[in-house]
Amino acid sequence: MTSDAAHALLGRLLPGLAAAGTVAAIAHRAGALTGRGAWAATAVGTACVAAGWDWGALLVAFFVASTTLSRVGHARKASVAAGVVAKAGPRDATQVLANGGAFAACAVGYMLQRSPLWYAAGAGGLAAATADTWGTEVGMLAGSAPRSILSWRPVPIGTSGGVTIIGTAASIAGAIFIGVTARAFGWSPSAAWSAVIGGVAGATADSILGATLQARRWCDHCQAATERVVHTCGGPTVAAAGMTWLDNDAVNVAGAVVGALTGLATTWIAGRSGA
Ligand SMILES: [Zn+2]
Repeated sequence: MTSDAAHALLGRLLPGLAAAGTVAAIAHRAGALTGRGAWAATAVGTACVAAGWDWGALLVAFFVASTTLSRVGHARKASVAAGVVAKAGPRDATQVLANGGAFAACAVGYMLQRSPLWYAAGAGGLAAATADTWGTEVGMLAGSAPRSILSWRPVPIGTSGGVTIIGTAASIAGAIFIGVTARAFGWSPSAAWSAVIGGVAGATADSILGATLQARRWCDHCQAATERVVHTCGGPTVAAAGMTWLDNDAVNVAGAVVGALTGLATTWIAGRSGA
């Protein structure tokens, strides 16, 4: 890093902390983040702004769009999926890091080494988180019965690895949204393609892991499948299938990493072919 770059970084750290802290505090007050979630979002946001205002703006675009989609039809989604999904309501610190951690790590990487490949990986990672969130939120709203991405058997709404046509379309739209937004903030066309292709690949990996290795639990009292450790009836649940430690947050991390690596590969191949 040159001394000019170091100087610019220091010049963004404090305003970045102030901007990220303000956005996180507003989101906390609005019920979109828990207290710890707000601290995690402040850390993620500050790291992004330190890399550049474009990184910070892209993170805010993801956060605002995803939070808005979560809010739409919240009561309806809660009523159809509350017994199934592991977490509902404000996002906690683990969820914030699972969705924004890969992007923040790429932002830190870009600060250390100004390579355009960090844009590609960051765009792919953030697009994967966006695609997964949009697919889940819109898919639950649409109300059509999801099917397992692998066995194609119907599964309860909210089940990981369950997909619908509308949810899949929303997922692709989420990846395109990050690509278009990145382009609007001056990122290269290949970084935008990295977002689109990485986003779709990451969300697909997320669904496949959700349908296979992700922990599934069972409530004996309600005789119902769930991902919750404590069921909505208040009773404890037991591990039924999958790997106990591989919860929805861990699967989201894996999806973001697949998105980042696919984004990296997309830009690398585009560079090699002279595109
Ligand atoms: Zn129960």
